[in-house]
Amino acid sequence: MVKIALDAGHGLYTPGKRSPADEREWTFNNKVLLACQERLKDYEDVQVVRLDDPTGKTDVPLSTRTRTANSSRADVLVSIHHNANTAKWGNWGGVETFVYPRASTASRQLATNINPRIVQAMGLRDRGVKTANLAMLRDSNMPAILTEGGFMDSTTDIIALRDNDKMKAQGEAIADGLASHFGLKLKKGKDVAAVPNKQTNIPSPSHKTGWEWAEKKGYMNGERPKEGLTREQFASVMMKVVSDLEK
Ligand SMILES: [Zn+2]
Repeated sequence: MVKIALDAGHGLYTPGKRSPADEREWTFNNKVLLACQERLKDYEDVQVVRLDDPTGKTDVPLSTRTRTANSSRADVLVSIHHNANTAKWGNWGGVETFVYPRASTASRQLATNINPRIVQAMGLRDRGVKTANLAMLRDSNMPAILTEGGFMDSTTDIIALRDNDKMKAQGEAIADGLASHFGLKLKKGKDVAAVPNKQTNIPSPSHKTGWEWAEKKGYMNGERPKEGLTREQFASVMMKVVSDLEK
């Protein structure tokens, strides 16, 4: 049995932890946590311990959160957050995952496993794995990571944060990363590639016009609008665009 401690950072009413449009960080974190918890149910022999208040009403002190994780003998702790830079809109952005400066190899491996999965799910810039002396990472006895799945005060990232499909994909990405780290087995009949298959072929409203244009022009094949583009795919698309311009 693998015991996973999950934490949606802060509380609904924690001062300052909100987007410039007054959206609460806890609400973003909670969406990801719930999707992660749901996806973990697809795996055998796994148990979730939730460290924050599931209603968000109370901002459970960090010392209480780590004490719960320690006393329940969790095998791992994942604290789910979303970033802020200046609390005013800006053009920064990206996903990063923190480990304690003197973190165990297991913590580092887990962060290295999960961070690119979040990047892929959110379609945002990869800021990589970083170290920080954070209470959730310092005072927990088990391997621990703290994820920042995009900036609440980024004009680009906020589009992804407001996209419930992407937030669900982020939660599932964390769950699948945990499963791969611990070698968890999927229950019978559960889909291996849950994230891509569950994502619909419907583009986000803000990108609908562009997506349909690209499909009509033959630059995109009309599938998986929310997935990232590889370097080779980009080269092919660019070749088609340039050859059309030269016609
Ligand atoms: Zn936070």
